[in-house]
Amino acid sequence: LVVVTDVNKHFGELHVLKNINAVVTRGEVVVVIGPSGSGKSTLCRAINRLETIDSGVITIDGQALPEEGRGLARLRADVGMVFQAFNLFAHMTVLQNVTLGPIKVRGLSKADAETRAMALLERVGVADQAHKMPAQLSGGQQQRVAIARALAMEPKVILLDEPTSALDPEMINEVLEVMIDLANDGMTMIVVTHEMGFARRAANRVIFMAEGEIVEESTPDRFFTNPQTTRAKDFLSKIL
Ligand code: ATP
Ligand code: MG
Repeated sequence: LVVVTDVNKHFGELHVLKNINAVVTRGEVVVVIGPSGSGKSTLCRAINRLETIDSGVITIDGQALPEEGRGLARLRADVGMVFQAFNLFAHMTVLQNVTLGPIKVRGLSKADAETRAMALLERVGVADQAHKMPAQLSGGQQQRVAIARALAMEPKVILLDEPTSALDPEMINEVLEVMIDLANDGMTMIVVTHEMGFARRAANRVIFMAEGEIVEESTPDRFFTNPQTTRAKDFLSKIL
């Protein structure tokens, strides 16, 4: 579903993505893990075309990523994105946050978008917050709204970049539960996270990145109990 081939990216002198190759098949849950600055976010942003790439090809469902225009809006609609910092629209209610994309990009009527949004808010457990503004919600609630907003576009794949790392500890689990529920439901997911519990329970595969390279690719079990590379061992000894 997502095919990344020979992708390179520089920020000036810094080579942030070094010949990245990765394939994510439909229904697969892939956890991306690695030290700060290793290029995890840049890779996610490149897959969603929030970041350009210098060389290589990224395809979503067989289609190469367009540079701009209508094709790009459609592509973004196919790739849901959830960020560390929630990124909800502050001046809109929770319900408006979730209905905006489906109305503007998918062409749904307001009534249809609201019906679907309420079902999604129900699913992530925040339906009772629908008419509040984002700032009135806890971090965990805001992140669950951000997940509902991504799902409202009926994306083919959803990217979550450290979705729980800005949350207070007691709110992490409520968001992880929603993510595990999605994974069990067959959603294709790419998740940047250091939450091993999630990786062990939900991931089919772990990709370990360091200094812009994919250093190791493994099952969660094998990665956490028996990492193959020195760099992975070093990293795990710091976070475990
Ligand atoms: P973290 O775990 O801290 O989120 P990461 O693995 O997500 O790290 P990236 O955010 O992808 O890492 O950044 C990779 C490298 O690229 C870092 O050295 C970062 O400073 C640099 N970088 C990221 N975005 C930019 C940018 N817009 N301009 C210049 N350098 C950037
Ligand atoms: Mg990052």
